[in-house]
Amino acid sequence: MSMTAGAGLDNGFTGTERAVLRALSDGRRRTVAEVCAELSAARSSVVHALSGLQAAGVVVEHPAERSARGRPARGWSLAASPGLLAVVVAAAHGFLAGVVRPDGEVLAAVHSTANLTPPAAVLELLNRAIAQAEISARHIELAVLGLPGPSLFAGTAGPGPLGGSHLRRFRDWAGRPAADVVGEHLNRPVFCENDANLAALGEAVYGESAAADTVLHVSLTHGTGAGLVIGGKLHRGGSRLAGEIGHLHVDDGGQLCECGARGCFWQTTSIPALLSELATAHGRTFSVSDLDAAAAAGELEIIRALRGFGRSLGRRIADFVVFLDPQAIVVDSTLGAASHVIADGIREAVDQYTPPQLAASVQISSGSLGVSAHLKGAAALVRTENLLVDTGHASVAGRPSGTAPS
Ligand SMILES: [Zn+2]
Repeated sequence: MSMTAGAGLDNGFTGTERAVLRALSDGRRRTVAEVCAELSAARSSVVHALSGLQAAGVVVEHPAERSARGRPARGWSLAASPGLLAVVVAAAHGFLAGVVRPDGEVLAAVHSTANLTPPAAVLELLNRAIAQAEISARHIELAVLGLPGPSLFAGTAGPGPLGGSHLRRFRDWAGRPAADVVGEHLNRPVFCENDANLAALGEAVYGESAAADTVLHVSLTHGTGAGLVIGGKLHRGGSRLAGEIGHLHVDDGGQLCECGARGCFWQTTSIPALLSELATAHGRTFSVSDLDAAAAAGELEIIRALRGFGRSLGRRIADFVVFLDPQAIVVDSTLGAASHVIADGIREAVDQYTPPQLAASVQISSGSLGVSAHLKGAAALVRTENLLVDTGHASVAGRPSGTAPS
C-alpha cells in the first residue's frame, strides 16, 4: 500500500464532526467542555456534532465520573478504541523503530546506531519492536516514517521533492520509496514526516514545554536541525523544509554542501563535527554516549567543548528568537546530560545577542523524552493531522450511509 496523501476522505462527516473526531482520536475520554476548549468551538456546535456522531455509532457517551470539585461531567470517547501506530525513524546516525498508542504511550522502542542497510535490516528492527510490544502486525493501524527532508503532507503522494541526493539515500530503499516498502510490509497506510519535526512535535505536545504556544526544538543527534511547533501544530513552511538551521549560510568560502549551497552551518557546527574535533584533540574516538557520560561526570574539558558548541548554536538561534519570539527552546534530549550543557551555552548566546526582554521571556532547556520524542511525536502527528479519520480507520470510517472508504 502506498503512502496516503493528506487530502482526506469524503467520509460523510461535517467539518465540526471531523474536528471533534480529531480531538477524540487518541482514544481518551473527554468532557464537552474539554473538547470545546481544545477546538476553541462553541458548546452548542460541539454538542450537536457529538449527537450526530453518537447517532452514527462512531462515538459513545460515558456516565459521569465523580470529581473532587464541581458538578461531575459526562465523558465522550470513540466507540471503538483506535489501533496502534508503528514508527520507523531512519537518519544519518541511527535507526529507531517503535510501537506507540495514539495517546502517546510508548509500548516498544528499538534503537540501532549500526549502519543498517534498508530495507531488510530496518524491517527486521520494526519486527523486533512489534514483538517487544507483544502485539501482532494486525494491531497496527498506520505507520509513521521519520526521514530527513521535507514531510509528505499537503497532498503530496509519491517520493516528493527530494532536493539533493543526500536525501534520496534515506528515502529510497533499494530503489523504492521507503514509505512503499514499509506500507507493503505492514499492509497499512504510511505517512512520512521530517525526523526533526517528529521529535519537535513529541517534545512540544508531551514534554515539559507542553504548555508553551511556540516551541523551537533543536535536533542534534541526527544532524543539526530544528522543528517549530506553534499552537500544538508543526509549522512546515512552503517547501516543507522550515527549520533547517543546519543550512544557514555562515561561510562564503566554505565547502559545497549536499543541499546545493556553500558554507552551511552544520559543516562546522554539528555533533559529528564536535566528536571528530574531540577525537583529534584527545587521540581517541568519541561517541554521543561518551559526551553524555563526560557531562554527567563533570569532566571540565568536555563540558567546555559542549558549552562552546551550545554558544555557536545559540548565536544562530538568537536570530530566530528575535524573529519568532518563542516561549521555549528545547534541546534534543537524546544527548543525555550533554544536552543540558548545550542548553546552557545556547542560553548564554541568546542572553548576549537578543534584546533583554525577548531573552528573558524564552525558556531554554533540555528535552525530557529522549528517543521517545520521535515516537510520541508520531502519535501527536496522527492526532493533529486527523490521520485516523483521513485514512478511514475502522472506528471512524464514516457514516453507515456515507461514502465508504477505499
Ligand atoms: Zn546546506
